[in-house]
Amino acid sequence: METVFYVCSCMEEELKGLPKKAKEKHTENKKFFAKLKKRPPKKLDYVMQELHKVEFEQTDCLTCANCCKTTGPLFTNADVERIAKHFRLKPSQFIDEYLRVDEENDYVLQQVPCTFLGSDNYCSIYEVRPKACREFPHTDRKKFHQISNLTLKNVAVCPAAYNIVEEMKKKIKL
Ligand code: SF4
Ligand code: SF4
Repeated sequence: METVFYVCSCMEEELKGLPKKAKEKHTENKKFFAKLKKRPPKKLDYVMQELHKVEFEQTDCLTCANCCKTTGPLFTNADVERIAKHFRLKPSQFIDEYLRVDEENDYVLQQVPCTFLGSDNYCSIYEVRPKACREFPHTDRKKFHQISNLTLKNVAVCPAAYNIVEEMKKKIKL
């Protein structure tokens, strides 16, 4: 019998299974974050910086881009001004062309995948990209326990955030 080798895209497989995996962990994660909020450890910022660093040493966002494909960022006024300038547009022209206002009154993309994402997963406005894109998935931010609701959602989108939360639960005993 002829041996056939299939090329498997591990990241593709991982992304396909992520929402289900995140759903299975949702109750456990919710309980963990509820406890974390009540009693955040003194070293939390330090632990998060380390977990974030280790995870992103092995995660290549260019093989993923799931955040750009499925969610997209909020655009602050400073983001709008900076990116409009990059395109030599007036902020109002940039807004009309690319953004809409969501239910929470924030500027967001008119559509996902993000218009600025290339087929090679590169961001065409990387140097001037929104602050939310630079900071996503926010796992190295200070006082991480304050964004637990956001993180509970992000673990279903971002494989790195999922792994970081799993490691967090092993490392921080509450
Ligand atoms: S602006 Fe760039 S980094 Fe942000 S969602 Fe779009 S492609 Fe991704
Ligand atoms: S931040 Fe997360 S979701 Fe976005 S590209 Fe990197 S690993 Fe993927």
